[in-house]
Amino acid sequence: MADVKTIGVLTSGGDAPGMNAAIRAVVRAAIKNGMKVKGVMRGYNGLLHNDFVDLDMRDVSDIINRGGTILYTARCKEFSTEEGVRRAAENCKAAGIEGLVVIGGDGSFRGARDLTNLGGINCVGLPGTIDNDISCTDYTIGYDTAMNTAMEMVDKLRDTAQSHDRCTVVEVMGRHAGYIALNAGIAVGASYIVVPEKKLDMEALISKIKAAHAMGKQHFIVVVAEGVAMEVEGGSNWIAKEIETATGIETRATILGHVQRGGNPTVTDRVAATTMGHHAVELLKEGIGNRVVGQRAGKVVDFDINEALQMKKSLPMDLYAIADDVSF
Ligand code: ADP
Repeated sequence: MADVKTIGVLTSGGDAPGMNAAIRAVVRAAIKNGMKVKGVMRGYNGLLHNDFVDLDMRDVSDIINRGGTILYTARCKEFSTEEGVRRAAENCKAAGIEGLVVIGGDGSFRGARDLTNLGGINCVGLPGTIDNDISCTDYTIGYDTAMNTAMEMVDKLRDTAQSHDRCTVVEVMGRHAGYIALNAGIAVGASYIVVPEKKLDMEALISKIKAAHAMGKQHFIVVVAEGVAMEVEGGSNWIAKEIETATGIETRATILGHVQRGGNPTVTDRVAATTMGHHAVELLKEGIGNRVVGQRAGKVVDFDINEALQMKKSLPMDLYAIADDVSF
């Protein structure tokens, strides 16, 4: 059995609610297994600048319920070079860090792979992103909270759209994946959902609204994923203008933005972060690295990082069809 004495933990890339719950689980599970834990500040930057902090049992008290990340997060260009990876590995070794939990997205996992293979520091990735766009896992930490935040915000927009007989176009996060848009869209009863996985069809969108209007519907919600809005000049405002011009219904666009990245994590996110964080420690304790932890059919699993990065996952279009069937 590997005799691992100290592991590190960092958060990298975009933040997500539940990252703190994951840090807490890693720290507590490691201590339970007789290991010490060092927190690495601001993603891979902390490794390059020896910005480490000892994390004891009580240092992670009162964070399971908090959004954001107590370790801060950042992107780090310097680390993406071979020289950066080697320097990071040397700093880890000097600080006694033998294994590392990396909480982030695919970019962060590429760094974790390099640090394992080039630098000899066993790394285990935990999927932390609100977008649910990591292929090896059904679920990513932060996703449920983000969907619920989007739903609550759109519920509020519904009130005002209803009062004014308006159409409200809401842009939610998701550059490459429509998971938030699809699920939040269903949950708010959107008339139309626009996702990056499906080409934007303004004609279909407008005719759906016109048909519903003709049947007496007075207010409308259109949910648009960020990735689609980025592809059209004028973004969500342009989509709103087009709807207004074609239907005569007053239409406003709202971009929810980073509000979806914050807030107290939901039960689902806290439990996912805790079980996956615990699993990452079990791997590192055995001297196993170059793995990504995920969830498949409700079970915690792990994969080789390279294999995980090559996997594909697709938005359930049957769910999209259901949303379409019940929105008129
Ligand atoms: P995310 O982890 O959310 O996908 P990024 O893609 O911005 O976020 O990656 C976060 C950090 O991971 C980067 O700033 C960089 O330090 C590291 N990283 C990203 N891509 C690579 C890569 N190809 N090789 C090594 N490190 C990488």
